[in-house]
Amino acid sequence: MVLAFIEHVAGAPTMLSLEVLTMAGRLAPEMGSPLEAVAIGSKGSAAAGVLSSYGVSALHVSDDPRLAEYAPAAWARAIAELANQVNPAVVVGTASDRGAEVMAHVAARMKLPMAANCTEIASGDPLTVTRQRWGGSLLEEAHLNGRVKLVTLAPHALTAEASPSRTEVTTRPFATTLDDRDFRVRLVPQVEADTGKISLAQARVVVAGGRGVGSAEGFASLEELADLLGGAVGCSRAVTSLGWRPHSDQVGQTGTRIAPDLYIACGISGAIQHMVGCRAAKHILAINTDPAAPIVAQADYAVIGDVQKVLVAVNAEIRRVKAAEPSRTPA
Ligand SMILES: Cc1cc2nc3c(=O)[nH]c(=O)nc-3n(C[C@H](O)[C@H](O)[C@H](O)COP(=O)(O)OP(=O)(O)OC[C@H]3O[C@@H](n4cnc5c(N)ncnc54)[C@H](O)[C@@H]3O)c2cc1C
Repeated sequence: MVLAFIEHVAGAPTMLSLEVLTMAGRLAPEMGSPLEAVAIGSKGSAAAGVLSSYGVSALHVSDDPRLAEYAPAAWARAIAELANQVNPAVVVGTASDRGAEVMAHVAARMKLPMAANCTEIASGDPLTVTRQRWGGSLLEEAHLNGRVKLVTLAPHALTAEASPSRTEVTTRPFATTLDDRDFRVRLVPQVEADTGKISLAQARVVVAGGRGVGSAEGFASLEELADLLGGAVGCSRAVTSLGWRPHSDQVGQTGTRIAPDLYIACGISGAIQHMVGCRAAKHILAINTDPAAPIVAQADYAVIGDVQKVLVAVNAEIRRVKAAEPSRTPA
């Protein structure tokens, strides 16, 4: 059996988990195995409806209320105990911050090797995986041994695809033997003010700034462009290190990995650790004073010029077009 570890928000699987289900759903028939899933956390059983479109036959959920909030060691112990009960051939999780953390704990607890950031998984024993190394600059083919193969899937290695046919998903509660030591690290619920802004991970357009933006105040023109396009603002690590933007805005290996339709990189050089976070974008537009900046070669479009001057002109033009729109509507 192939077991997919699903991350979800109140039963709605995350996009990366849908990608995991898609990959696991291809692997399971190759192995002649059923596909099952495990969802930890509050309202996990509500995921069954979505999972039925991904070929899942059984959904394992724990009803231990202490697992409702994120607690990496406890979640991992629950998955390890489930794996010992149901004996999957492969467990696939996401390579999100949480997925990577939990799966690493699972591997340590089960004393098994784990292959992180895989982009392809081919059936067999050992399992053959292709995985990203060095921030995605190197693809390694590796053979994974172990009585249970533990894998995380690199974000956006494939596109999530639901099946038109639906399966009957049986929900199976499972028991755990957790103790207080498993909850030494746990998320304490916090109420965040709803800013009404679209999140970096979900935005279809991301306007990101690097050191070339010049200052924290320089991001005002990027904010304006993001607002005009209904997008979000991101940044490079140079910018978070300078304290111009919070780490939650950072795109890259040690930030968020995103896959927007359009990524507008303003004053960003295109270091490999940055590109690993945005290379899944459908289109990249670079604005940079240096035509030899690495990002220019990796972008679909580039404007060579000072970012502030370029954005003043772009924002004015978008405002002009938007203002003219009503008059174009036929009476
Ligand atoms: C382990 C590790 C993890 C890392 N993780 C990340 C990560 O997650 N995300 C990340 O971003 N980086 C990460 N880095 C850092 C990365 O290597 C780069 O240092 C960083 O991305 C550079 O940021 P930058 O492009 O903003 O700055 P720079 O490299 O300094 O580039 C600035 C660019 O702005 C251009 N420019 C200057 N003035 C203007 C102007 N007026 N108008 C237009 N363009 C202008 C320049 O030509 C240049 O191309 C990581 C590094 C390591 C070692």
